[in-house]
Amino acid sequence: MIEISKALKIIERETPEVGAERVPLGESVGRVLREKILADTDLPPFDRSQMDGYAVVAADTQSCPVTLKIVGESAAGRGWHKRMVRGEAVRIMTGAPVPDGANAVQRVEDTSGWEGDAVTILESVAKGMSVVKRGAEVKQGTTVFHAGEIVTENKIPALASFGYARLSVSKVPTISIMATGSEIVPLGRKPGRDQIRNSNSIMLDVLCRRLGCSTSVLETPRDDLFELKAKIHGIKSDILIITGGVSAGKYDLTTRALEELGCEIFFEKVRLKPGKPAVFARRGKTLIFGLPGNPVSAAVTFQLFVRKAILLMQGIRDSDLSPGFAVLDNAVRAPRDRDAYIPAALGTDVEGRLIAIPLKSQGSSDFVGLSRAEALIKARRGTDLDEGSVAEVLFL
Ligand code: AMP
Ligand code: MG
Repeated sequence: MIEISKALKIIERETPEVGAERVPLGESVGRVLREKILADTDLPPFDRSQMDGYAVVAADTQSCPVTLKIVGESAAGRGWHKRMVRGEAVRIMTGAPVPDGANAVQRVEDTSGWEGDAVTILESVAKGMSVVKRGAEVKQGTTVFHAGEIVTENKIPALASFGYARLSVSKVPTISIMATGSEIVPLGRKPGRDQIRNSNSIMLDVLCRRLGCSTSVLETPRDDLFELKAKIHGIKSDILIITGGVSAGKYDLTTRALEELGCEIFFEKVRLKPGKPAVFARRGKTLIFGLPGNPVSAAVTFQLFVRKAILLMQGIRDSDLSPGFAVLDNAVRAPRDRDAYIPAALGTDVEGRLIAIPLKSQGSSDFVGLSRAEALIKARRGTDLDEGSVAEVLFL
């Protein structure tokens, strides 16, 4: 049995990054950047007017009204590129370049208007008013985003502004999902005597896809060594997730099948509850996770171990669940030999403190309890945490 921290280190050590590919910007949301994003221009690229009005020399407007000679016009996309001097004004539109010599813009509402070849400025303006200086938002050459960041909708305008019509992102990891067990029937079929529906495969399928993977859900082999080995044999995906058959029962054959297929087994028992019999192995280039069949154990071990591998594969450096603290709504206790990760719902108390409500589980197969989980409460082995005490949690 190994420590959870050791298991995580091994996963970190053994998980390779998938390759990169270039995709159009519009298809990059949710993907992970594999290149550094640089500003190829200053933003704004020139001193830009924030108002429709007149570019002026601020000092000319100190005692208003004052009448200035209109010497030109600067519109968006068609600037006025001569030099303005004192006593002059240039008609200017929002988004247009502020001419050299001018240092402020007075909005048209505070002038005599657009007509004529002179304008009367009615209110004085301070230097810099309504002008966004070149490079004030971003300087050319700045790193805007780093490799390993996820492309979100909100990053798209910045990426577009710096000319990234295509981006280098991580390839989509491929994942095969295989439930095992003689009692398991597919979702569409009514379970017969002694049978149960396969809830693990679909749960893992949606979890993996939400983390940016492409999945294929395989048929369920029975608890039969020959059948198991045959099914595992042909799999070529980046990751294979198997559930069931990893405990100590007579018909728990997953680990043995992996051994007989010549897999390299990195660990097969972790000091964790729920989820002690979690297996991590490799066959060829395929990383293999053998998770317990109990749906709650499968969910917890996925969140702790498989999720990490999926993120690391895509080049995401921050691959751990984000930690926090919450007040326990109920006492929890960890066994003597293993650290507990207890699924919990979250809420706030009257003082606005975050509270964690441990989900009363009838055991590690209580997936109705699991359905409300938003976090995992961490309880170190051998500890009893009282109601009202503050515990570390990991947000799901
Ligand atoms: P095992 O890890 O094979 O010993 O299975 C532990 C428990 O989880 C047993 O009660 C199984 O029936 C149940 N179980 C195993 N696989 C699945 C699955 N794919 N969906 C739902 N329950 C499962
Ligand atoms: Mg089984």
